[in-house]
Amino acid sequence: MNKDSQLRVRFAPSPTGYLHIGGARTCLFNWLYARKLSGQFILRIEDTDLERSKKEYLDEILESIKWLGMNWDDIFYQSKRFDIHREYAEKLISSGKAYRKEGAVFFKCDFESIEIDDLVRGKIIFKELPKKEEVIIKSDNSPAYNFSCVIDDALMKINCVIRGEDHISNTPKQVLMYQALGFEVPKFAHVPLILSPGGGRLSKRFGATSIREYKQAGYLSEAIVNYLLLLGWSPGNNREIISLDEAKDIFDIAKVNKTGAVFSIDKLKWVNAEYIRGKTLAEFISLARQYLEENNCLPPDVDNDYLEKVLNLFKERVYTLADLKDWIGFCFAKEIQYAPETENILENNLSKEMKLLIERFKAVDDFKSENVESEFRKVAEELGVKAKILVHPSRVALTGKKIGPGLFETMEVLGKDKVIERLQKLVNHWGGEHV
Ligand code: GLU
Repeated sequence: MNKDSQLRVRFAPSPTGYLHIGGARTCLFNWLYARKLSGQFILRIEDTDLERSKKEYLDEILESIKWLGMNWDDIFYQSKRFDIHREYAEKLISSGKAYRKEGAVFFKCDFESIEIDDLVRGKIIFKELPKKEEVIIKSDNSPAYNFSCVIDDALMKINCVIRGEDHISNTPKQVLMYQALGFEVPKFAHVPLILSPGGGRLSKRFGATSIREYKQAGYLSEAIVNYLLLLGWSPGNNREIISLDEAKDIFDIAKVNKTGAVFSIDKLKWVNAEYIRGKTLAEFISLARQYLEENNCLPPDVDNDYLEKVLNLFKERVYTLADLKDWIGFCFAKEIQYAPETENILENNLSKEMKLLIERFKAVDDFKSENVESEFRKVAEELGVKAKILVHPSRVALTGKKIGPGLFETMEVLGKDKVIERLQKLVNHWGGEHV
């Protein structure tokens, strides 16, 4: 590709809110397409609304884009370009294509029909426009979106505009403006919207949350990117796990689905779990530790080796890093509180059986899960009960909950002293004496 025909795309967020899942996907598709075709990816901050644009939002948008693993080749701020927008409005006034009325500048939408060849949707013909005139400079002298968008896309030599389908109604107006100014009209690719499970636009209740919130909820950046990719595009061969690096080589904007993609939090969780499983233990520990520290879930004097063993216990079991918050508490608790749902297990007084277990455990020198398990099974056999009769109350004793990781692995991680102390507490709870 020679320099003039080099692909130049842009992502144009307005910093009037955080980066949401839909915006992140538009950004991703732009970025991937640019990388695939060795093009340029421009970030254009559409901060023309000076009242509603906030630095906090801008910072989050930039942070999130970077966190998701994308980078930009150049960045522009529309608020610094108002003079350029006004200059082009003057040109349109001089050529009779726009006029000033009550403070604002209006563009005359003279047209019969407009046809675009959308890269995603194919041919689209616009036969009418709702209005005969379009504000291009508002009465406060700031440019209106359609106008600043066209001027900047043209001057930034953007030759492919990839954006959400919700902008389709703007496209014919923008094409008219390109033509009126003698600019070359770029290609367009309107990406279908992300829909909520019941149809309709994605709502706050169903996933329309910011990337920052997903991060806080314990999702890995690679998983979010992978899931966004699947929303509207497929790598083929029924594959679902695909890295950003690989997608860079095979993504094609023309292969994006025409119909809306339905958001599924369960699918996102599944993808996230796949990425967690794919991490090495060391990688997982570093991610989990950082997450738990940021969320104040670890005791200040946490022992490194112990934390590693604890996290290893959960690596294959969690869907998000946030799941760890609920799970690991018992590993650090000074005293176990029994959750209300364990009541039916605690009803059955097994203090005699537990006492025997405690006695036998005291004699186990190497408290490894295999040794603990074989001792446990011997005790059950001796008592003539099924092992599971002892498993349930033991789990409640150790974790305070009905559900948890493998009992014997848990015992090894907690260590002999804690296991005996907690089993004894349950015996006491049943009113039995000390072993
Ligand atoms: N600032 C617009 C938005 O956030 C950009 C639209 C476009 O890409 O042209 O929706």
